[in-house]
Amino acid sequence: MRQVEATDFDARHRRLKRMPVLWLTGFFTVLVCFSITSITLWQLRQTRTHELEIAETTAANLSRSMAQQADDTFDQADIPVAGIVERLYYDGFGAASSSRMHEYLRITAASVEQIQGLFIYDKDGNWAATSLSHAPSNANNADREYFQFHKAIDSTLPHIGQAIRSRSTGDWIIPLSRRVNDSAGHFAGVVLATIELAYFDRFFDRFDIGQRGVITLAMADGIVLARRPALENVRGASIADGELFRKYLKERYEGTATVRSILDQEMRIYGYKRLDRYPLVVLAGLSEQEVLDEWRQYAWRSLAIIVCVVVANLLFGVLLFQQIRFGLNAESQLRIASHSLEKLALQDGLTGLANRRHFQEILGLEFPNGLPNLHPLSLIMIDIDFFKSYNDNYGHVAGDKCIVAVAECIRGNLNRTGDLAVRYGGEEMAVFLPYSDAQGAFALAERIRVAVLTRGLEHQGNPNGIVSISLGVYGCSAQECPTMEEFVERADAALYMAKHDGRNRTALWQSA
Ligand code: GH3
Ligand code: MG
Ligand code: MG
Repeated sequence: MRQVEATDFDARHRRLKRMPVLWLTGFFTVLVCFSITSITLWQLRQTRTHELEIAETTAANLSRSMAQQADDTFDQADIPVAGIVERLYYDGFGAASSSRMHEYLRITAASVEQIQGLFIYDKDGNWAATSLSHAPSNANNADREYFQFHKAIDSTLPHIGQAIRSRSTGDWIIPLSRRVNDSAGHFAGVVLATIELAYFDRFFDRFDIGQRGVITLAMADGIVLARRPALENVRGASIADGELFRKYLKERYEGTATVRSILDQEMRIYGYKRLDRYPLVVLAGLSEQEVLDEWRQYAWRSLAIIVCVVVANLLFGVLLFQQIRFGLNAESQLRIASHSLEKLALQDGLTGLANRRHFQEILGLEFPNGLPNLHPLSLIMIDIDFFKSYNDNYGHVAGDKCIVAVAECIRGNLNRTGDLAVRYGGEEMAVFLPYSDAQGAFALAERIRVAVLTRGLEHQGNPNGIVSISLGVYGCSAQECPTMEEFVERADAALYMAKHDGRNRTALWQSA
């Protein structure tokens, strides 16, 4: 009973000890994998954000610089236009056709790079003067948008029109024009400077915007004037439906936004700015894919390394897990083996009763330093009657079986935890009963004797015809226990008495 409980406790204790080690190994492996992965992903996210922020700043700077350039370009073209309007107002429209005016237009157009030509139209749209060397005969520009604008609206501000093809040169130009009033304040004509779009193209070309970046100059209503790279039919196309015009430019005149181009569907990081004094918008966009190209390569490399590290770590973890489990199993097997060995060392192989060594150990515990503990002790010595002749009649194997049967009769009658049944040697057995007095021990001895008789094992050499045993009992109370040797000898002496008195009986030790 006590042994069974102890084994259960050991097993539970071992399981408890083994759990955390295995569990910790698994947990630690997963934790390392998780940490490495999350740190890398976090870092990749940071670098991606950083790359995009740099691109946003670049695009914003680019758009500001473009806007400044466009502003300057139109300002420089507007200066002579405003001057001519002023002169015609004071000198009268007749001054337009003077040779001096023609010379002035020619020299100004030649000296201001972006001005392709300067023109003066009278109130009917007829050409009154031009910077060109040859004016087409009977030419009339009354149908042009800018002419009709000035004719209809009495404003002294400059007007910028949509990009058109010049009637004189066939080039794409942007018209910048002002209304001329006569001294009475009536419409007298229009002064026009045409700005080469090629000028913007050349300017745009100076910037590094990558393979798929874009720079666009558009009217405030979304009509494209110039774009790099140029697309088929892009001039005059409207991008008013794009998100930049629909949303961002309505909210703010300047800023950055990441949107998909409605012209080529490319996702771009845009810097946008509406010009301060002209109804024009400049967009500078960097391809998001291009911006993140390098980052993407870096990310793939990092992920490949992480996958390798994680896999290696997992493999290592599994290996470690197995090793630990193997070690723990080996340990528990060793424990079981040593437990069995211990048992073997203390047990009799034939009967399963305690062996004499075990008996001596237990006895030693009850007689520390040879003196008894302070409680009653009893010992029953048992010997099979006429066993020599049993062996002779039935053989040694049967003799062994007989010993086993007697051992079972002994074991079957023990019911107290501390009682110990022993194979003392040969066909001699004993029962050690701590906490039992002589009367209790005698009663038990009798029960065992009767149990053996009840078995009714045939034994021709025994006058009874069946196997019987003789038992010697000695018991002492706490105060009067003798030494250990004396204790055993008295039980032995009682057994001798039982034999002497005719066997198949129990004798209680009597002091002489
Ligand atoms: P008694 O009634 O006086 O005890 O007579 P006995 O013949 O039993 O005499 P004793 O106790 O001296 O006999 C011991 C015999 O038991 C000797 C041996 O032949 C036999 N024996 C001892 N150990 C074993 C054993 O392990 N197996 C078998 N089969 N026989 C054993
Ligand atoms: Mg004997
Ligand atoms: Mg005997």
